Amino acid sequence: MSIPARQARIGEVLREEGLDALVVTDLVNIRYLSGFVGSNGVLVVTPASRVLLTDSRYTAAARTMVEDTEVVIAGRDLMDRLAEVVPQGRVGIEAEHVTVARRDRFAGRLSGAELVPTAGLVEGLRVVKEEAELEAIRAATRIADAALSRLVEEGFAGRTEAATAWALEGWMREMGAEGASFDIIVAGGAHGALPHAVPRAEAIPADTLVVVDMGARHAGYASDCTRTLATGTLPAALEEAYAVCLEAQRAALAACRAGVLTKDLDSVARGIIADAGLGDHFGHGLGHGVGLDIHERPWLRQEGGEVLQTGMVVTIEPGIYLEGVGGVRIEDLAIVTDDGCEVLTRVPTDLTTTSI
Ligand code: ZN
Ligand code: ZN
Repeated sequence: MSIPARQARIGEVLREEGLDALVVTDLVNIRYLSGFVGSNGVLVVTPASRVLLTDSRYTAAARTMVEDTEVVIAGRDLMDRLAEVVPQGRVGIEAEHVTVARRDRFAGRLSGAELVPTAGLVEGLRVVKEEAELEAIRAATRIADAALSRLVEEGFAGRTEAATAWALEGWMREMGAEGASFDIIVAGGAHGALPHAVPRAEAIPADTLVVVDMGARHAGYASDCTRTLATGTLPAALEEAYAVCLEAQRAALAACRAGVLTKDLDSVARGIIADAGLGDHFGHGLGHGVGLDIHERPWLRQEGGEVLQTGMVVTIEPGIYLEGVGGVRIEDLAIVTDDGCEVLTRVPTDLTTTSI
């Protein structure tokens, strides 16, 4: 689906929702619908037109980036030209992305319009990826895999958690990544029991597990992968946690296919971990969608529930966290297909011991 095709789709969505226009303020949604990449923009979409408001820093760049979209250069706050480009009638705003202050300013500038809070209209289009998007995610995954493989081979080489995270990011940039797709997590020993640990300037300990959660960004698209590496002989509790987590992760991958409910897939992994008596140590959801955002729909968890569709890109990442001891998380990125899934991450998930 090209950008013009996406624009046609959002036009249909507006008609279905009875909206005369949608004021798109989320920069990722703006990029998806117009091609514009920048830090300041508002995209006004009607069933038949697109107008991008941006500021003079983007005068030249915006016109080369966008497709089938009129560019209007406004003042820095973009509001001074808003009334010119937004039609009267029912005008949607992205409730999940607009602050209360900004909504009030919209209301002040658009006194003739009825502002309608909307949720997920553009995100709903983004959830199933096009072939070009899948290619970008595959490329991002290849870069992250290469960096992670280098770490597995070289070992931590005396680096601290923080230095390891920085080395991984550097290697990914050298291989053409635009950067890391999120702040890389490297967490050894008891620190690994925090699912979202921040790397510290502390040495990686021996005879424990180290959680490494990382991804690359390529052509705007993210990848996401976690491996948990051993640094020697493990305490029995961590060895067991690793084996259970791996069994749960593989079972969920095997069950991942179009037509499955997200919460049922979550239950596959959660059931295995619970049966091992470790259910209380797996607090987060099984996974999430990945695309232009590192975390996006669909959400693989017990709450809500969405049906997996061919072309969705999801992570499968159960974790087991033993407070004061250590943690394990194993995460693959996969494309949902009609009869299964295409696992993108290639770094082996068998327990691997790495030197420190
Ligand atoms: Zn991750
Ligand atoms: Zn993830």
